Amino acid sequence: MKITEVRSTTREQRIAPHTHIKGLGLNEEGRAYQVADGFVGQNSAREACGIIVDLIKSKRMAGRALLLAGAPGTGKTAIALAIAQELGPKVPFCPMVGSEVYSSEVKKTEVLMENFRRAIGLRIKETKEVYEGEVTELSPEEMENPLGGYGKTLSHVIIGLKTVKGTKQLKLDPSIYESIQKEKVTVGDVIYIEANTGAVKRVGRSDAYATEFDLEAEEYVPLPKGDVHKKKEVVQDVTLNDLDIANARPQGGQDIMSMMVLFIDEVHLLDIECFTYLNKALESSISPIVIFATNRGMCQIRGTEDIIAPHGIPVDLLDRILIIRTLPYTLDDIKSIIQIRAKTEGLTLSEDSLNHLAESVNGRDNIILEDIKEVDDLFYDAKSSAKVLAEYQILESVINSIIFLD
Ligand code: ATP
Repeated sequence: MKITEVRSTTREQRIAPHTHIKGLGLNEEGRAYQVADGFVGQNSAREACGIIVDLIKSKRMAGRALLLAGAPGTGKTAIALAIAQELGPKVPFCPMVGSEVYSSEVKKTEVLMENFRRAIGLRIKETKEVYEGEVTELSPEEMENPLGGYGKTLSHVIIGLKTVKGTKQLKLDPSIYESIQKEKVTVGDVIYIEANTGAVKRVGRSDAYATEFDLEAEEYVPLPKGDVHKKKEVVQDVTLNDLDIANARPQGGQDIMSMMVLFIDEVHLLDIECFTYLNKALESSISPIVIFATNRGMCQIRGTEDIIAPHGIPVDLLDRILIIRTLPYTLDDIKSIIQIRAKTEGLTLSEDSLNHLAESVNGRDNIILEDIKEVDDLFYDAKSSAKVLAEYQILESVINSIIFLD
């Protein structure tokens, strides 16, 4: 099954307001700096996310998801993005909103499935033997007896024939064999394979050598120099856009893990059918890292008659979820965030202009009653949302007990 690339422009627009975010801004002990990596405050949530990053890296988050619960504008998206950044520079971040699943043309689970596919990326880790070091020319003495000399030159491989006695026989990589042919290496040439690049280098001839080697032979034997073989961990991040899912199985010595972040905002907008799908999808060995966000406390699970649950999420899915709360900001935090944001956009803001920021919004230079009402509404929303969280102690205990549940 070939996975085709899914492009989304809305995705880029959603990430744009967060370009100042570069990571979680934690120190080596996992403690949050008050201001770092574009982040201001929200320290506990950032520190908890640092632990999540460690859990993901050590493969202990398999089958689980993360939920960021907090009022609008408290940095849930920014934190999810920072988690992706902390996982690696190439780990993609794929945001979607719960309401996106409702379309008259496509089934809800198909929309989810498409986003899951878009968000499956793999990190392939394998320990390979690699050749290291520079190619060195053979000394005249070594040229006299090249096979005897290989122990001294550590950075390359002498190509020998399998008939050479007393040497360990290894199959030669076909691409190197091709290079040898391209180089028109003839009988008696002493050749080396350059470290790392695999390029064939001809460094001389030896008549003694010629009697031992027959380059017409099918199989050549590289004679590794003692320690030219170094074990090295090779890490490669790939997306399934380029990859055939059928091939995404670990091969000998490989360790494959999913390394992409699917962020589902307003998760309470999903319904029971979607939650059932998610519960199953999370079990897949190549499931992306899923981060949900919500600003709702106790509410009805969509698609059910009357089931009320924390965040509108069924309990069986909640069991798999670690919950982190984001708290409302102080005025100073908000000012710092605006300043950082302005700096990222190449703007400088004086204290006055910060306080009068609303004046420049929407290109207008006067504040009208509607603006104040709108701001009032926004703050009311945030407060009421926080109130909901506080009112439902059950939710509080779910949050506290689930965060570090093993
Ligand atoms: P919503 O619930 O509306 O989706 P949210 O909780 O996801 O909101 P964000 O969209 O992450 O909030 O935050 C709003 C803006 O403020 C973004 O530009 C974000 O990058 C920025 N922001 C939020 N919190 C912080 C923070 N602690 N430090 C720096 N920037 C922040």
